[in-house]
Amino acid sequence: ADNTTSRRIHILDKNMVNMIAAGEVIERPASVVKELLENSIDASADRVHLHIEDGGKKLIQITDNGTGISAEDIPDAFEPHATSKIRTVEDLTSIRSMGFRGEALASIGSIASVKLTSRTKDSIQANSINIDCGEKGEVVPDSSDYGTTIEVRNIFYKLPARRKFLRTANTEMGHISEQFTRLALANPQLEMKLSHNRRVLHNLPKGQSIEQRIGELISKEIRDNLISIENQERGIMVRAQICTPSISRGTNKFQYTFLNGRYIRDKFISHAIKEAYRGLLEPGKHPVTFIFLEMPYESYDVNVHPTKTEIRFDNPNLVHSQVLASLREKLLNVKTEVQGSISS
Ligand code: ADP
Ligand code: MG
Repeated sequence: ADNTTSRRIHILDKNMVNMIAAGEVIERPASVVKELLENSIDASADRVHLHIEDGGKKLIQITDNGTGISAEDIPDAFEPHATSKIRTVEDLTSIRSMGFRGEALASIGSIASVKLTSRTKDSIQANSINIDCGEKGEVVPDSSDYGTTIEVRNIFYKLPARRKFLRTANTEMGHISEQFTRLALANPQLEMKLSHNRRVLHNLPKGQSIEQRIGELISKEIRDNLISIENQERGIMVRAQICTPSISRGTNKFQYTFLNGRYIRDKFISHAIKEAYRGLLEPGKHPVTFIFLEMPYESYDVNVHPTKTEIRFDNPNLVHSQVLASLREKLLNVKTEVQGSISS
């Protein structure tokens, strides 16, 4: 028989590969927002402005004043597995940047109409490029200030099955606000602005305290009932702002945990928080906590899942016991202070 007829396997075209891979990183407009904000932070920006239209379905625009990308590098930024952040296998064991997989821009460029404009500090002009569902244009001179602007239009417009899955502008905006909140809590050094359909939702000056950010992003009541914790022991720094047990919520949504500046979700830490508040809350109530852990970059792995919110600790039991001990000690002190003041 003819050899060619027996061949059914073929290698998919590059744009299709990117489009399929995009599904792992880009679920909805909020995923785009997360990836772009993280890139601005990695680029050492101290100002990031985010403008959203129609819940991000029509437009996600982000402008930063970071390092920028050189004209030569701009086309590569949209190639899959193209990154300036790691080089060797060893680099993977101590990741300091938010990004490292080199797949966000490639994914975003494969499922939307994107324009990137960028100017480095030593360039006399800006350059820009358009990429439309994987079809990359030429780099052309443009005008803009130092830093990078990325406009992402009509996400999933060539993928009706994905587009259909998107919710109302309000719901999508809720997800975007949540991503914005996580990054704004982790980066109080950064000026951050968020607007939706020309309405300013948040305008956070740089250099705010974490309490100020909590007050503006979460609630004033929560801000006014925080207990500060700082406890460095056994290689783990636990900094936290946690609410007194009198302030609780009906869901565990108000438990923010960060590891070296990265928002994470971890079942060991969730359990430690629950244990710390054991017997102090009414049934069905959940604590409100903001925990900022600092640990050696080598003591955990972030390369577990494309979105990087799940991590693997080398020693999860140590993390659990340090979080539990740091919180519990303060909570019991507060409780005895309250009881003391009642009985006296
Ligand atoms: P990663 O962040 O994992 O490296 P991305 O696809 O998100 O991958 O970005 C690819 C590269 O493009 C980055 O490594 C970086 O060099 C460059 N880049 C992306 N966004 C920015 C930005 N806002 N400012 C400067 N450089 C950027
Ligand atoms: Mg990135």
